[in-house]
Amino acid sequence: MIAVYPGSFDPVTNGHIDIIQRAAKLTDTLYVAVLTNPSKKPTFTVEERINLLKKVTEDIPNVKVEPFSGLLIDYAEKIGAKIIFRGLRAVSDYEYELQMALANKKLKGDTETLFMVSNSKYSFLSSSLVKEIATFGGDLTGMVPDFVISEVEAKIKRR
Ligand code: ADP
Repeated sequence: MIAVYPGSFDPVTNGHIDIIQRAAKLTDTLYVAVLTNPSKKPTFTVEERINLLKKVTEDIPNVKVEPFSGLLIDYAEKIGAKIIFRGLRAVSDYEYELQMALANKKLKGDTETLFMVSNSKYSFLSSSLVKEIATFGGDLTGMVPDFVISEVEAKIKRR
C-alpha cells in the first residue's frame, strides 16, 4: 500500500518524525509530501525543508520525500496513494483536519484520510512553536533533531 503524509514541515520536528516512523511501518511506500505553496510564506525554502526531511529519514528505506503543489488529492492520485496520513495532537487540530478530510473525500471518494494520534511526548510541538522558542534563544533539545537546531538558529538569526 502506498500512502502520503503531507505537510509544510517548516521545519521538521520530532513530532513529524514520530508520525513518519510509525506510518512507514504500516505502508509499503510512504511519500512525505512537502507543500510548496508560497502564499504560506514559509521560513525555510521547499528545497531546505526537503533536504532536512531527507536527512532525518535516510535510514527508513520505504520513505520518499517530494514537493507538491496544488490539490493534495491530485498529487495522491499521481503517486497512486489511497491513504493520506495526518497527525492529531489535540482537539484544536480536529476541526481543520475534519474539514480537509471531508473535502478530500468529496473530491475523491476512494482515498481515505487516517489520523495518527501524536506521541504524548510531542503533542505540544509544532513548527511555529519551535521557531518562536528559537527567536528568544530557548533550548530546542528534544524538539527537533540536533542538526536541525543549528539550521533553525541560523535561519532565525538571518531574519
Ligand atoms: P500543515 O501546515 O499541513 O498543518 P505541518 O507541517 O504543521 O503541516 O504538519 C503536518 C502534519 O503533521 C499535520 O497532520 C499535523 O497535524 C502533524 N503534526 C504536526 N506536529 C505534530 C506533532 N508534534 N505530533 C504529531 N503530529 C504532528
